[in-house]
Amino acid sequence: MNTFAQYFSDSFAIGGVFTFSIVLFCAYFVNKSTKYLYLSGYFLCTFFTLVLMQKTDAHLFGDIVETHTVQTCLLLLSLPFLLLFLNQFLQLRRYDSVIKIINIIVLLSCVMTLLLPAELSYLVTHLALFQVLFVFLAVNVLLAKLKHDLVNHFIALTVIYFIGLSSNILLFGWNEFNSEIFAVCYWLMGLTLLYLLNRQAILTVNKQTASEEQAIALSEKYQSSYQELLVQQEEDQELLESRVQERTLELNIALQELEEANRELEEKNTLDELTGLYNRRFYDQKILAEFRRSRRNLTPLSLVVIDIDHFKKVNDNYGHSAGDKCLVTLGKLIKQVLRRSSDIGCRYGGEEFCLILPETDSEGAVAFAQELRELVLTSSFDFDSTSINLTVSCGVCTYQQQKDVTPVDIFDGADKALYQAKADGRNQVQVKEIIAVTTSSPSGENNEH
Ligand code: GH3
Ligand code: MG
Ligand code: MG
Repeated sequence: MNTFAQYFSDSFAIGGVFTFSIVLFCAYFVNKSTKYLYLSGYFLCTFFTLVLMQKTDAHLFGDIVETHTVQTCLLLLSLPFLLLFLNQFLQLRRYDSVIKIINIIVLLSCVMTLLLPAELSYLVTHLALFQVLFVFLAVNVLLAKLKHDLVNHFIALTVIYFIGLSSNILLFGWNEFNSEIFAVCYWLMGLTLLYLLNRQAILTVNKQTASEEQAIALSEKYQSSYQELLVQQEEDQELLESRVQERTLELNIALQELEEANRELEEKNTLDELTGLYNRRFYDQKILAEFRRSRRNLTPLSLVVIDIDHFKKVNDNYGHSAGDKCLVTLGKLIKQVLRRSSDIGCRYGGEEFCLILPETDSEGAVAFAQELRELVLTSSFDFDSTSINLTVSCGVCTYQQQKDVTPVDIFDGADKALYQAKADGRNQVQVKEIIAVTTSSPSGENNEH
């Protein structure tokens, strides 16, 4: 061996392989991944193998063991590390048992080399090395099938391994492992393996980056969709609110219209259509209410019953339309004389009218009736071109806190007074006291306190 080759083998090649081992061992502590530990073990074995290849004719441990025995043994010992690394690196979990079997065979071969003579131990070692070469080839086929990103790198590794092995056999035969060839071969394999590790790390980082970018893109897409959804929700909410407001407004208007209609209907129900005065129904309610108020407040309550004199004749002479017109005119006259808002004029029925005069005593009511009677007497009831003269008779009755009196009793008193007025010649006002004889009636009430 010349000086340069010696220098290369000792310092550079062997030291380099040892450095690989140390670096990978440190990498194991950083990454906690056993693949670094396996590869470190592989390079450590190859380091010692290369060291021993330098001393083929020496003996170790006080010349007890020949160096070639230890050398082949270490060479074989490196192979399980390499296979374990490949298994871990490529994650060939399905082939765990195959790798295990090959490793057992290699380890058995390793033990055998310690026992066998030199030629045989070289042969066994070669067999094990070829076995690993087949593993490499199988891995290449598998990776090619999977279209693995690192398939080309593994082909390169296999080629280096194959060239190293075959060139050693061709140049030095079966009974020697040349240190230069193995040093170069281990170096190239070491570099390729480190490159593989590096390449795999880059691919992993790239994949991670790609998936992170994808996740970010997805997150952004989700965010924008969420924002769109929020905007849509706000729009829907606004639309809903405006619709609800619209409907509420419409409903309020409808309610107001309904109230108006109800009010009108109520008014119509209480008004006499012909004269515009209140009707009998309203009279019944009002006389009861005013009677109670009068009794509660201890105020007088007067009732005037009015009947047109000889009205039948009006109908007979001028027709019913003329009679109706007279009723309308009388209604207007009644409204005219009712000055106080509390006074109420009703059409009791036919040509009979009632005036409810709260807080009015008998004299006041008589004066009021007289005023109306005189107004009717002096008014002309015109129909077409005809002027009709009418008179009315009035009966007055006043409630002044007499005991056991009902509204019907008041009406009966006024009706009796009216009868008296008719009997005495009509066109006059008569007054009657209340005679409480009624017990009950639809508009009456008895024993009220
Ligand atoms: P008296 O002086 O006794 O009251 O004589 P009268 O003819 O008025 O007799 P009575 O009061 O009994 O007559 C009521 C008449 O009033 C009968 C009917 O012809 C008339 N009459 C009642 N209601 C109406 C109405 O709504 N329109 C018209 N045109 N006439 C009516
Ligand atoms: Mg009458
Ligand atoms: Mg009459």
